[in-house]
Amino acid sequence: MELVCVRHGRTAWNRDRRFQGHADIPLDDDGRAQARALAAQGLTPGLAVVLVGDNPASQTYIAGKGRAAKACGFHSIQRTLPAETSEAELLALVEALNADPAVHGVLVQLPLPEHIDSSRVLEAIAPAKDVDGFHPINVGLLSIGDTSRALIPCTPAGAMILIDRACERLGWTLPGMEAVIIGRSNIVGKPMAQLLLARHCTVTVAHSRTLDLPSVARRADILVAAVGRPEMVRGDWVKPGAIVIDVGINRVVARGHDASGKPKTRLVGDVAYAEAAAVAGAITPVPGGVGRMTIAMLMANTLLAAKRAAGL
Ligand code: NAP
Repeated sequence: MELVCVRHGRTAWNRDRRFQGHADIPLDDDGRAQARALAAQGLTPGLAVVLVGDNPASQTYIAGKGRAAKACGFHSIQRTLPAETSEAELLALVEALNADPAVHGVLVQLPLPEHIDSSRVLEAIAPAKDVDGFHPINVGLLSIGDTSRALIPCTPAGAMILIDRACERLGWTLPGMEAVIIGRSNIVGKPMAQLLLARHCTVTVAHSRTLDLPSVARRADILVAAVGRPEMVRGDWVKPGAIVIDVGINRVVARGHDASGKPKTRLVGDVAYAEAAAVAGAITPVPGGVGRMTIAMLMANTLLAAKRAAGL
């Protein structure tokens, strides 16, 4: 995890040891200790990841999740089904994983083929095994502030940890702070808003119909961009000293061509990084910021689900 803290025009790289290298070992020291304690009791957390079809991006994501689970010493199951799998067949697999005591977390990789109703599938996952946190029960628990029973969506949960780290470094406390989230999706924007609200921030959720978005963004002590538009948030949208969390992952064309003659590409966030970093108090880079936290939080949710299943 890298969080850039910018103060008085100087840039310092905060390479936090607890998360450093977590692409290889995606749990922090405490998480690893908890996993070892469970293993000593004969309990290995189990994560099942289901992919339908052969979307290359999804294949990359689930391979990463499987590697992370193995690196944590978890029981890792990957089920890849052909694109023509029926909804009934997928639901039957989810039911089987729900009933499998060796599996504590079930994740169905989105997007699903068009002939399958994603909501029906996500709602079929047992809430206690819903490590993505997308089941309406978990959404509801988060919205009523019952985080002790909810499983929280991984990306906003990871972003929240980065916000806490930035606050520690800047000597801030969250209650009363003005937070603006750009984006209102069910997987990022809305749960992010709930998490910041639960921490007593004054929260504004902006979206494509928001009027004068730059002015709204400039109000933010904590600005979270989850839009999916490359470098939309400019430097002059950022309040001086603000914490900027860039959730966006956008692939754009870069200079030159690769060996096969295709144009090169690179990843950028929703924030124009260099401009925003010149103004912000702390900012997450893309890649290397929130994206890395998402897999780490998936492992943390799997561990939590295993502990809860064991009554711990
Ligand atoms: P999404 O479902 O497409 O939602 C995008 C949101 O942005 C919508 O609420 C939309 O508003 C809003 N929006 C779009 N254009 C806008 C504009 N011009 N001005 C203001 N708001 C605008 O996207 P998502 O799933 O939340 O993902 C957002 C970004 O985060 C994407 O780049 C995605 O790749 C990335 N992401 C990263 C991770 C990670 O691990 N780091 C995880 C998930 C997603 P309306 O609701 O009005 O349409």
